[in-house]
Amino acid sequence: MARLLATIGVLLVFGGCAAPSRTTQPLPPPLMETTVRRPVSPRPPPAPRPRTTPRPRPAPTRSLRGATIVVDAGHGGRDPGAIGVGPMHEKDVNLQVAQRVAELLNGWGATVRTTRDHDRFVSLDSRAAFAERCRADLFVSIHADAARRSSAAGATIYIARGANRDSQEAAQSIAAALSRAGIACRGIHGAGFRVLVGHSRPAVLIECGFLTNPREAWRLSTPSYQAHLAKALAEGIADHFAP
Ligand SMILES: [Zn+2]
Repeated sequence: MARLLATIGVLLVFGGCAAPSRTTQPLPPPLMETTVRRPVSPRPPPAPRPRTTPRPRPAPTRSLRGATIVVDAGHGGRDPGAIGVGPMHEKDVNLQVAQRVAELLNGWGATVRTTRDHDRFVSLDSRAAFAERCRADLFVSIHADAARRSSAAGATIYIARGANRDSQEAAQSIAAALSRAGIACRGIHGAGFRVLVGHSRPAVLIECGFLTNPREAWRLSTPSYQAHLAKALAEGIADHFAP
């Protein structure tokens, strides 16, 4: 509820904001106009490109066989999560990214379980209980952020305060993969979120970016960026299991 109120607060604060108007000042006239005429020499024709045969892509060598990973798309149903510019509902972005992550991990041989695969409400306690029931080797909760400052940007990784080594290492592995993919990460932080502390399994929660930042909201809504982000997250998770 606090999150929802905070979100509404954000909306009230940012709802009526208009972009600052810019004034364009004419450039001063050049001090001196010069025309330089260079002798024109005919260019040699471009050298023909050597023909190359496309290199075959290496076959994927990752194997996550034996690893059970729960992918949790945050919010859903009557709980939209953060509402950003657009207005974008966090629950939709979370599901789209989570499904892509789950698909990749599944393709690499992991046993992947998801807390939801469509727009439905799932309580935090049910999500935590599901992690326990699946005996998840890693519970990965996917979220998107909101802030009062529209300039706030970047992904953030959370683990439980005093988290076990598995959670810490998974978080570090994901942070490294985000960095390799050129996705700004605000670091790894401790938190008391129910989905992190309400069960005994290793767990990370990723805020994928800020929906209150117009640039990030736009990126997070595009399938190409979602794919790029999901690949980085999945690779980070996979590196944790099969470095
Ligand atoms: Zn959320």
